[in-house]
This record gives sequence, structure tokens and C-alpha cells, in this order.
Amino acid sequence: MLKKYQICIYRIYMNDSFQHKGLRKKLVEIIRGKGIRDERILQAIGSIPRHLFMDSSFIRFSYKDQAFPIGEGQTISQPYTVAFQTELLDVRTRHKVLEIGTGSGYQTAVLLDLGASVYTIERQRKLFLNAQAILGELGYKPHFFYGDGYQGKETYGPFDRILVTAGAEGVPQALLQQLKTGGIMVVPVGSKHGQEMIRIIRRGDDDFERTKHGYFAFVPLLKGTNE
Ligand code: SAH
Repeated sequence: MLKKYQICIYRIYMNDSFQHKGLRKKLVEIIRGKGIRDERILQAIGSIPRHLFMDSSFIRFSYKDQAFPIGEGQTISQPYTVAFQTELLDVRTRHKVLEIGTGSGYQTAVLLDLGASVYTIERQRKLFLNAQAILGELGYKPHFFYGDGYQGKETYGPFDRILVTAGAEGVPQALLQQLKTGGIMVVPVGSKHGQEMIRIIRRGDDDFERTKHGYFAFVPLLKGTNE
């Protein structure tokens, strides 16, 4: 049973105040200023309480356009990066989207706000459980999986869209095979020092069109789970 003070802390934590809303509006303008044009994405950033996805030590920085630690050596992505990857992914209502690297669950919430049906995989047990708790609390219902996203989720595929939110050394072949024809995959590819954002459109069975979209810094896509 929760003690009184625990309930009180919980309520403060779950609070979404006018101040938070004001800070979000400013964040949306910063991201718009950096070139994001899709109003649906800007609206999602403007309405999702990012502070509820943050590690408590960094809550005061929730609406800075920066990545922050979320524990287990991982990070919540920078809001601009979330918006940029989502824009490249061109998500439509009812799209079946596979997300590799649930992390905090913030990017998952953005995809769900766009009307997608989301299948999300995380390899760190603690983050997996945290993301499940907060997304559930906010009423979001993705399909959660604990495991190695490197292999994708063949039984639930093929997918309209695949988003990798960790830096891969190369494009995971299993994921390419789980993409529908006409589908889009967005994946940062490079070393642990930096990755190039790659967008892949599947034009046919063995026909993949790749384009490059600038450099980013993600935590690495790792094989296996943390157990
Ligand atoms: N979109 C998330 C990004 C989190 S960082 C957010 O904004 O919060 C990337 C995440 O990918 C980390 O949580 C890390 O544990 C996870 N990850 C790395 N390799 C993975 C793999 N092979 N399968 C599933 N998740 C993986």
C-alpha cells in the first residue's frame, strides 16, 4: 500500500502545470525554428508532458532541446531529433510502426499521437518497465516487447514504418525484411562517435532506396538484452 507522502510525491510528479504548458510552447517554437514543418508533429511535442518521461534529477531541464540521461547509461532523445526522425518517417494514421529502443517512451508517445499502431522493443529491463508504467498512466497503448530489437518482430510484421532510435553500426538486415513494400525505415548508422541519419524506402522485394539526412549522436544499438 502507498503511504500518504508517497501519494503526495506521486501527484506532484504527475502534475502538468500551466508552467509546463508554457515551456512546451516555447520548445515547439525552437523546434519549428530548426526546420520542422509537420504541424501534427509540432502539436504532439506541444501536448506531451516530456517532464513525466525524464529521470527525476533532470526534471527541471525537461523542456530544453537536449538529450538527458534516463539511467542504465541511456538517454531520452533531444526533442528536435525526435521530431526530425518522425518527420522523415512520414507516419500516417493506422500505420503499423516498429520502434527499436523504447527508452523513456517519449518517442513512442509521439508516434501514438500521430495515430499509429506502435510495436516498441527495449533491451534494458528497468527502462522497459518504467516506459510501460508512464505510458500506461497517460493512457497510451503501444505493444511492448522486452528483448533484442536487432531482430525486429517478424511475427507482427510486415510494418509500414520502422524507426531505430539507437545508433547502428550497419543497417540491421532482419529489419529491412520486415518492411512492407512502399514502407519507410529511419535508422542512424555509424560508430559510437556519431551516426548519419539514413532513410530507406522499400521499392520492391530487393529494391531499397537510401538517402542521407545529416549527422546525429545516439547511444549505440546493442545486441542481446542486458540480462
Ligand atoms: N526514443 C528513446 C531513445 C532512447 S535511447 C527516447 O527518446 O527515450 C535508445 C534506446 O535503445 C535505449 O533505451 C537502449 O537501451 C535501447 N536499445 C539499444 N539497443 C537495443 C536493441 N538491440 N533492442 C532494443 N532496444 C535497444
